[in-house]
Amino acid sequence: MGVTCKIGSPTCDRQWCTVARLRLSPQKHNVPIFRQTRHFRRDCCPKARELYVEAPFSIAMTTYKIIILGGGNASGYAARTFVENGLKAGELAIVTEEPYCAYERPALSKGYLLGAARLPGFHTCVGVGGERQAPEWYTEKGITYLTSSRVAKADLANKALTLEDGEALSYEQLIIATGARPVKLTEFGVPGADLGGIHYLRDVRDADDLVAAMAAAKEAGGKAAVVGGGYIGMEVAAGLAANGLAVTIVFPEDRLLSRLLTPQLAAVYERLYDAKGVKMIKGAKVTGFDGADGKVASLKYTDASGTPQQLDSSLVVVGVGARPNVELFLGQLEMAAGGIKVDGQMATSVPGVYAIGDVAAFPLTSVATGQVAHVRQEHVTHCRTSAAQAAKAILGLSPPSYDYLPYFYSRVFALSWVFYGEAPSDATTLHFGDTDEAKCFGCLWLGAGGKLVGAFLEGGSADDAAVLKAAVAARLALPAEGLEVGSGSAVVAHLKSKL
Ligand SMILES: Cc1cc2nc3c(=O)[nH]c(=O)nc-3n(C[C@H](O)[C@H](O)[C@H](O)COP(=O)(O)OP(=O)(O)OC[C@H]3O[C@@H](n4cnc5c(N)ncnc54)[C@H](O)[C@@H]3O)c2cc1C
Repeated sequence: MGVTCKIGSPTCDRQWCTVARLRLSPQKHNVPIFRQTRHFRRDCCPKARELYVEAPFSIAMTTYKIIILGGGNASGYAARTFVENGLKAGELAIVTEEPYCAYERPALSKGYLLGAARLPGFHTCVGVGGERQAPEWYTEKGITYLTSSRVAKADLANKALTLEDGEALSYEQLIIATGARPVKLTEFGVPGADLGGIHYLRDVRDADDLVAAMAAAKEAGGKAAVVGGGYIGMEVAAGLAANGLAVTIVFPEDRLLSRLLTPQLAAVYERLYDAKGVKMIKGAKVTGFDGADGKVASLKYTDASGTPQQLDSSLVVVGVGARPNVELFLGQLEMAAGGIKVDGQMATSVPGVYAIGDVAAFPLTSVATGQVAHVRQEHVTHCRTSAAQAAKAILGLSPPSYDYLPYFYSRVFALSWVFYGEAPSDATTLHFGDTDEAKCFGCLWLGAGGKLVGAFLEGGSADDAAVLKAAVAARLALPAEGLEVGSGSAVVAHLKSKL
């Protein structure tokens, strides 16, 4: 077992001091294997200076064979692949801004809002039925996990990272897994967008704030507004409604999740939201927020006809997209699609540096056109598989070039859907199943030559989803005639028979 000691950062300035709690590795003295950092104001914590002076050793630059920068969803899967392939203790460090080891982020807009998911319950890799990698797992495997540690500088030419508190780390190989952050309305200068009570959802702290805000909103009239009708907006609205709040979703498009759902599919989910008492204001553009005492009280928008309107709500959740965290690497790495450009091994333009997950722009062959283009995918399956790909490449296992079939899923209320492939606007759509029953239904997207390029399924089993996935991957040619589109299970059986 390691020992615990307290030290201060040698670079603290006059006002702030960082007190870190380190557990020292028994194998390599002076190498922290797990760390929690707290920041104190010196005037609030007179002991901080003393701790700094009494530090038993100074922090020299620590070198690791591999560092993962960003301890989010992808990092847990990369760590798992390293361990499965013989990683030795002391070789890997994960450095992350969040105070937690990697967890399955999608839970935040689903089980977390219902009180069902709490850490350590949803640490990676439980999302695929794998082992739950709680902090002890990393300790046992000899993996250093630096939580609450923001990397302030990445000097890729010198293979060095500098943490916000001045601590320096160096590596032989680096995996960038910095993910993405929510796009904020303040970035567009929306008046009042900085008021309290306006929430975004990306991490556990955001989710905790939202859970507390839901309870407060119930006391204060029970209203909530959601800005954005995409994945996050739909899931959060469902979570708020399930918590008994009167929810209104405000969005500029003409239907929910318009990027993916056809009007027919969207109508099914909109009926469900309606039945759950969730209002939808379509064609609406948010123009600002009003409030008192620094707290939001209402949302202002123009409706579809351009008329200014106002919606009272002391709780607003915004889900209008995400931005990849690339700033540390601008000018050092080639970029594409707003992210870090990688090849089929997840290798960037700098040797020994890899990128995975939301931040990586990888070469994807379009199922619809056969063209290859660099794209980013902000979806958990890609984060898991790209993490495994980079880890294998680093270990010299020479995996075949990354071959990814886009896959999205969501769960709202009691419904749950999956989608594979692409939904090009010029494809022929073939709806199937009983959308009135809203049990097992979906849509197929047929591209040139009647080839299946995308498939959506609501309410099917895992085996049904696997059939759809295989059918899209095979680009099955599907003459529409002869398909019994009235039944979801008949369509799945038909696809299965053609594989
Ligand atoms: C609320 C929510 C619900 C979602 N639901 C679904 C879903 O249903 N289905 C689906 O497919 N996908 C879903 N996603 C997307 C999925 O969670 C992401 O694709 C996945 O988390 C990406 O993993 P990642 O490791 O690339 O990035 P992240 O999980 O975002 O991890 C990045 C980590 O890097 C850290 N970091 C960034 N910069 C620094 C720095 N300078 N120094 C130190 N650390 C840093 C961040 O703090 C973070 O911990 C959802 C996302 C959210 C936010």
